[in-house]
Amino acid sequence: MAQHYAQVILPLSLHDAYTYKVPQALENAVAPGKRVIVQFGKRKLYAALVAAVTATKPENVDELKEIQEILDDHPVVLPKNFELWHWMAQYYCCTLGDVFRAALPTGLKLESKSKVFLTGVDEEVSLSEDEVLMLREIENETNILAELQRKLGTRFSYSTLKTLMKKNLVYAEEKISRKYRPKTESYLKLNSIINSEKELTDKFELLKRAKKQEALLQHFCAATNLFEPDALPEIAKKELLDGTNFSPALVKGLVEKKILVEYQKQVSRLDEEKIDQVSINLLNKYQAKALEEIKHEFDTKQVVLIHGITASGKTEIYIHLIDEIMKSGKQALYLVPEIALTTQIIQRLKNVFGQKVGIYHSKLNSQERVEIWEKTLLFEEKPDEGYQVILGARSGVFLPFSRLGLIIVDEEHENSFKQFDPAPRYNARDMAVVMGYQNRAKVVLGSATPSYESYYNALTGKYGLVNLTKRHADVELPEIIVADMKRAYKRKEMRSVLTPQLYELMETALENREQVILFQNRRGYSPFVECFTCGHIPKCERCDVSLTYHKYKRRLTCHYCGFSYQLPDKCEECGSPEIKTRGFGTEKIEDEIKQLFRNARVDRMDMDTTQSKNAFEKIVGKLENQKTDILIGTQMVTKGLDFDHVSVVGILNADNLINFPDFRAHERAFQLISQVAGRAGRKHKQGKVVIQTTQPEHPLIGLIGRQNYKATLKEQFEERQLFKYPPFYRLMKIVVKHKNLETVDRVAQQLANLLRKNKSLQILGPEFPMISRIQLWHHKEIWIKIDRKLPLDQVKTGIMQAVKIVKSAPSNSSSQINIDVDPF
Ligand code: ADP
Ligand code: ZN
Ligand code: ZN
Repeated sequence: MAQHYAQVILPLSLHDAYTYKVPQALENAVAPGKRVIVQFGKRKLYAALVAAVTATKPENVDELKEIQEILDDHPVVLPKNFELWHWMAQYYCCTLGDVFRAALPTGLKLESKSKVFLTGVDEEVSLSEDEVLMLREIENETNILAELQRKLGTRFSYSTLKTLMKKNLVYAEEKISRKYRPKTESYLKLNSIINSEKELTDKFELLKRAKKQEALLQHFCAATNLFEPDALPEIAKKELLDGTNFSPALVKGLVEKKILVEYQKQVSRLDEEKIDQVSINLLNKYQAKALEEIKHEFDTKQVVLIHGITASGKTEIYIHLIDEIMKSGKQALYLVPEIALTTQIIQRLKNVFGQKVGIYHSKLNSQERVEIWEKTLLFEEKPDEGYQVILGARSGVFLPFSRLGLIIVDEEHENSFKQFDPAPRYNARDMAVVMGYQNRAKVVLGSATPSYESYYNALTGKYGLVNLTKRHADVELPEIIVADMKRAYKRKEMRSVLTPQLYELMETALENREQVILFQNRRGYSPFVECFTCGHIPKCERCDVSLTYHKYKRRLTCHYCGFSYQLPDKCEECGSPEIKTRGFGTEKIEDEIKQLFRNARVDRMDMDTTQSKNAFEKIVGKLENQKTDILIGTQMVTKGLDFDHVSVVGILNADNLINFPDFRAHERAFQLISQVAGRAGRKHKQGKVVIQTTQPEHPLIGLIGRQNYKATLKEQFEERQLFKYPPFYRLMKIVVKHKNLETVDRVAQQLANLLRKNKSLQILGPEFPMISRIQLWHHKEIWIKIDRKLPLDQVKTGIMQAVKIVKSAPSNSSSQINIDVDPF
């Protein structure tokens, strides 16, 4: 038989694929999408992914190593996934290894440095000799895979490890920081020494004197259908005892008499509680019309953009679309920004679609992610058991869908769909569109403030466009009031951070038992501290940014590297003890508001208050149940929260939104303010939004005040066309990093010079970005503007070539060069 060769993808960003020999014994088992163990480098072993198998002899055949083992019986990655991976690597100028690392959940990526632990599950299972040896070694705290392998020598094999994992005795983690303990539950079954009905009857005899135990055993037999052909082999203790008067002590009695066996069994951590499915809401007439329009657009278009104002009920339309696609036997992917994955939306979906929905996001631990992965995969073979709908954050695009029919991207303008670091620096919204074409699945992008790229695609006819301009239940859009802070300062009318307009509206709202949301884009107590005498501002030693003061910790923190410093008691420049806090972060605003409204219940939502598990849900819950009167928050308050009693929303300082030096600043300011404003408005009364600014005459403030999306877009389009920005031009950003400033300068300049040889490109820079040093690394950026008429693949190949040339110079090799396609 001919020798077979496998192309495998390693979780490394070196090259795309490597060739290994397939040993004869594994020939039938090796297949694309399965994981195999290969050696790479001197001693390192990896779980790699087979991309293709061929019989064609490669050139350097002598040097090829063999595949050592196969980990999977079934492919964990489907051909459709690979198609997407290839597209991604090509478009985002990265390797398949980069994509591999981003795509697979940690639990499916085994590396020599992975750690393995005992789950602590104590089940009766039979073990092979090798399995016992391995378990004992892990028990003796040999946790690093490479180490385990060294100690066990020839007795080590990945298959052994994998069966131990399958039997739930062992689990693997990349990091030790978060030890995963499987959730276990007590289960009961009949002791295996009882082999016949006769033996059971004998046991009943034994219990003649213990009436309660006898009754419990009878209950057990009934609950498990013991004498029926469809008898259950086991039952959860909880399920057996729930709603009865039997006590756990009685169970213990039966266990001691060797009638029942009690043991711990691993149960899924994913919330599998039975939910009473509710029927779908009926659409209001505007939604019904929009749904018809979407379907009509789908006749000719793959992608439809819904431009629907806040609270118009886009979610209901999505649910109807998902329902229809499910009835046709296909799967749906529903993407939302990470932060919008709140209990509200999760519950809504579970209520309607029950067990068919899986939720996928970064807060799940690795084991939970593997479970979702496998249940998505399962749909192909067992549609009844696998997930048909996935609600997920951006990494949801990687899941192994076999019959994808619909993709929804809600809040499609959100920048959290973009992965900034590491590569692949992809935008899940754009990936969704690509997946749509690859799977012949329909794609719906939805937003109250669509990104200019998507709107442009709609205007040029590439996407269908559907408008939804009425809020559900005739709730009115809020009234927007622009409050002049400069004038209020001059007239000494400011009350701390509040203009008189906002202060009065808040007072009235509180009197009426209505709620208020205040938005401030900075967390911490004050964004910087300053020496009163010499004006010195303490900066991070590792980054080029001023330090934020956090009062509750009494420390200065760097928001870029997380480093924190003692608050100095005197100025490090001049020795003056007078160090003043400057500016307002959410923490300080909370202090000030509590002083101003002494009877109000004030809460805060930002990255600092939502660190612990469920903290976010708690804050939302308190607001929902009207236990909070005033909520102060950052960006977080803008996302997908619906509250019935919020009548006033205050944007404390719009200046720092509109003055941001970025070509997208105005687009973003409009989006952000519209989203925050969208939280105001109740069923029977119009909400009010106060925008505080020192530049009330700024044209953008006027446009935002009138909530005029299209006029803002028109104005911005003119500017972007003139200055060659997206959507009219394509953008790429190259970041050069090095710890040494001169090296960064030199490498970036070399690269820019090389790139400038292509006269058809517009090259800006190299320049220092606003924050030019992060974690001791200096950054320099080159921006490339690419005419849409140019052949993109060719342009990218040229750019990657240039990067390669610059990197290959020995004196440059220690510098990092990152390519970001469609930077945000
Ligand atoms: P959007 O996503 O467009 O901002 P949502 O989908 O969150 O709006 O809807 C806003 C509110 O109106 C939600 O509380 C939702 O439950 C309610 N709602 C919208 N449409 C309907 C409907 N057809 N029937 C019942 N409630 C609806
Ligand atoms: Zn000083
Ligand atoms: Zn720092």
